[in-house]
Parts: sequence; C-alpha cells; structure tokens
Amino acid sequence: MSTPMTAADHSPAPFSLGHFVAGRQVAGASGREGPVYNPATGALRGHVAFATAEETRAAIAAAEAALPGWASVTPLQRARILFRFKALLESHADEIALTLTSEHGKVLSDARGEITRGMEVVEFACGIPQLLKSEFTENVGTGVDSWSMRQPVGVCAGITPFNFPAMVPMWMFPVAIACGNTFVLKPSEKDPSVPLRLAELLKEAGLPDGVFNVVNGDREAVDTLLTDPRVAAVSFVGSTPVAEYIYRTASASGKRVQALGGAKNHMVVMPDADTRNAASALVGAAYGSAGERCMAISVAVAVGDAGDRLIEAVKQQLTELKVAPGTVDKADMGPLVTREHLERVRGYVDLGVQEGASLVVDGRDLRVKGAEQGYYLGPCLFDHVTPGMRIYREEIFGPVLVVVRVPDLESALDLVNAHEFGNGTAIFTASGEAARSFTQRVQCGMVGVNVPIPVPMAFHSFGGWKRSLFGPLHVHGPDGVRFYTRLKTVTSRWPTSAREGAQFVMPTMK
Ligand code: NAD
Repeated sequence: MSTPMTAADHSPAPFSLGHFVAGRQVAGASGREGPVYNPATGALRGHVAFATAEETRAAIAAAEAALPGWASVTPLQRARILFRFKALLESHADEIALTLTSEHGKVLSDARGEITRGMEVVEFACGIPQLLKSEFTENVGTGVDSWSMRQPVGVCAGITPFNFPAMVPMWMFPVAIACGNTFVLKPSEKDPSVPLRLAELLKEAGLPDGVFNVVNGDREAVDTLLTDPRVAAVSFVGSTPVAEYIYRTASASGKRVQALGGAKNHMVVMPDADTRNAASALVGAAYGSAGERCMAISVAVAVGDAGDRLIEAVKQQLTELKVAPGTVDKADMGPLVTREHLERVRGYVDLGVQEGASLVVDGRDLRVKGAEQGYYLGPCLFDHVTPGMRIYREEIFGPVLVVVRVPDLESALDLVNAHEFGNGTAIFTASGEAARSFTQRVQCGMVGVNVPIPVPMAFHSFGGWKRSLFGPLHVHGPDGVRFYTRLKTVTSRWPTSAREGAQFVMPTMK
C-alpha cells in the first residue's frame, strides 16, 4: 500500500508515490509497484504504484465528470489559469529541475532547458482565445452565412516516456486543456515525480479538480486508457513498437491517435562544412543527455573527404567531455536512466565491435569517482559503420555515435531516406544549393541546416515521418490545436416569410 507524498520530496527516506485524481493525491491500491532510482548513485529513491484497470477507470471518470464544466469555461478564463501555471513553473523551476535530475540523470542545466521547452508550450496555449478564432463567410449563398468552430474532443489521454518527464507531458496537456478537454496522463514509471508535481502546480494555478489527472503504472493502465469508450483521443510518445501498438489498439477502439516513436537521426557533414563547428554540434547532439533524446544525433554521415577530419575533431572534443552526476557543476553528461538500460546500451557497443566497426572511442571502462554504483557509460564513437550493421539500423538511445562514410550528397540522401525512422536530420554545409536540395528531398519530419537538433518551437508542430510517427498530426503548435478539437461548420439562414417548397436536388448556392 502506498502513502501519497508530494512529488518534490527530497528526504532520504524512500517515498511511495500514488496517483493524482480529481484534484488530490491518491495512494495506490493494487499492491503492485515499481522502484524509482537515482541513476547518478544507484540509490533507491522510492516506489511508484502501478494502477489497476479499476483505478485507471476512476481517473477517467474524474476527467469525464469535469468535462462539461471545463468545456464551458471561456477560452480567456482557461488561458488565465495557464498564465498562472506558467508563473508557478518559473518560480519552481529549480526545484523541479533537481527532482528531474535525481530520477532521470540528465545534468541540471539540461533539466532546466527541458522545463523551459515545456513552458513554451504553456505560453503557446495561453494564446488559446486567438487560436480558437474561427472562419466566417457572409453570404455563402443569398441570405446564407457560414462559419466554423473548433470544439473540445472530450477526455484525452497522454502516455509519455522517461526521457522528458516534464517537457513531453507539456507537449500535450497545456494545448488539450486550453482547448476545453480534460486529461489523464500516464507518465513513465521510471521518473514519475515530476509529472505529479506538475499536477500539484496546475491545481495551485486554479485548475478545477478532475481536469488534469495522473495515473502511474504499466500496461494495465495503458490498455485501459486505450480501450475505455469514455476516452476520445490518445497522444503517445515512446518507442516505435509500443507506438505502433498504441496506434492500432486505440484506433480500433474508435479514438483519434497520435503516436510518436523512436528515431535514428542522421547528421550529414559535407566536405565544405566548418569541421570544428560540425564536430562541436555533433558532440553536443550525440552525447547531451547521454544520448537519451529522440532528437539526438546517433549517425554522422561523413561525405567525401570530410570523414578523417571530423573523426579527429570529435575525438579531440571527447577528451574534454565531463561525465559526472547531473548535479555536479559543469558536468556535460550524466548517467543512463537505469541499470538495465545501461546494460542494453553497453551490449550494443560490444555488438558493434563484433560486427566489425572500428571503436575509436571506447567509454565502457569509465568509472565515476565517488559514484561507482551509478549507471555511467562514457561516450563511444564508431567509425566505418555500414548500413547492414545492427548498430546502424537500431535505436541505441545512449551515448554511442556511429559514423558512416559516403562519397557524395546523393548517397547521403539515399542513406537517410532508406532508414525506417524519419524523425529528425541535419545537414552541415557552406553550400546553399546542397542545403536546399537536402531539405526538399529528405524523408524526415524535422530538418536542420547547420542546426544539429532542429526541434520546432512550441508555435510550430513537432513530429517525424515513417516509423517515427503513427497518425496524421504532429504535437503542439497548430497541429496540436487540430488534434485536440473537432471542427464544426454551421450554415445558417433566417427565412423570410416567403416559404419555399421541398427541394429534391443537391442544394447549390446562388
Ligand atoms: P517506452 O516505449 O518503453 O515507454 C513509453 C511509455 O509507454 C511509458 O509510459 C511506458 O510505461 C509505456 N509502455 C511501455 N511498454 C508498454 C507496453 N508494452 N504497452 C503499453 N504501454 C507501454 O519508451 P521509453 O523507454 O520510456 O522512452 C524512450 C523511447 O521514446 C525512445 O524510443 C525514444 O526515441 C522515444 N521518444 C520519442 C520521441 C519523439 O518525439 N518521437 C520523444 C521522446 C522519446
């Protein structure tokens, strides 16, 4: 049995986290729970309850009960609550960042950056009165006017991954609730404290009880959200096999779904690119957050004679990269999220060696003094990787960068376009012609030109192509508003006293 505690608790005593339903912390009743570790030290922080189907249904019921009231609140009033939430996020950012680092492992400055990127979606959602303004046409026919409106879809569910416990939920719920929906979030069981803290802050900002709920758990909670008829829309971010399952299952239950999956992001380095800049961009994008970013660069494509220079520059910069607990001043990279994930990533490094790639930087022997039980892996760099190798094809999700050498831009494009994932990509070049050709022809949802991680700002939309996204709409920005609203178009005439008879032909306007 779990005892509810505030999510920001940093006491040494292990915590026991439950759920957040109808405006209050609720202890878990299932008897099932999972451990939550501090990956920097390997210490157990506490446990998180895993909801039963019944507990999940209680959260859906709370969201359903809150729906009519919330949907009838004016967009202006909804925005004012979000403005207050944004102010609370700012004043609590240090505390949230510390909790985030203590469960995810990323360095504190990166955790702050993640909170800022999430907050930008809140800022976008604060513009909801403007975003919901509709189209109106006077006189679509004589004496007939027509207009459209966007109305809430209902109860929405969000299922989110471990790697951005603040930002990814905030890709979803600020827009969903701004549009007048209510929400049930099922965050990752690996770092559940931050999402619970966001729920507390939303309440403090004045959000009515039941509009935002959190159920912690595993597949039992997820399956309930995917199949319960009261849930109208499901947003998912996580790995591709689960994204595909979510998309199929929730669509079969008649819901609208957006399911964002995994990635293998390529950065193409042309021979005319500035080698030092390209190497700095690569090191940050490949090893930041220990490579646990869906927009991390995990493949460098060295074009022509760029390869040797690039490898030398990256190797040089890696000698200066500081791996340490995320709370240590000037740490560049922290640990991986769990011991299991560390072993999985290390397994890929062993595999790359067996597959015949050259391991030019080997981080497997790294020991972090004073944190020997933490889940650390030093940066690893493979050269001469070929498209048939598993370390090229599969998502590793760790500090492992592979370099593939190709003769020209055409081969680089062929390589990127043949990969099953199409989340993000980038080209580094001094040639406008190469950049333009690349951006037009590459099969990816997000493209950078001399920008290694081209994450769209909150007022644009974020999403990949191919097996990196199932469903037609990206998250936040204009697509977010489309996803969380239903379009209704009204055609209206106020008849004069003259009556028309029945019409049996397809109506056309005059
Ligand atoms: P994951 O797929 O293991 O888990 C994501 C969520 O799904 C979690 O809440 C988890 O509890 C739940 N889940 C896991 N297995 C499930 C199952 N069998 N049935 C139902 N629910 C299940 O992902 P993760 O390890 O937490 O996160 C890393 C992955 O997320 C990487 O593949 C990364 O590329 C991806 N990701 C993608 C984006 C994007 O924008 N495309 C963003 C962030 C992360």
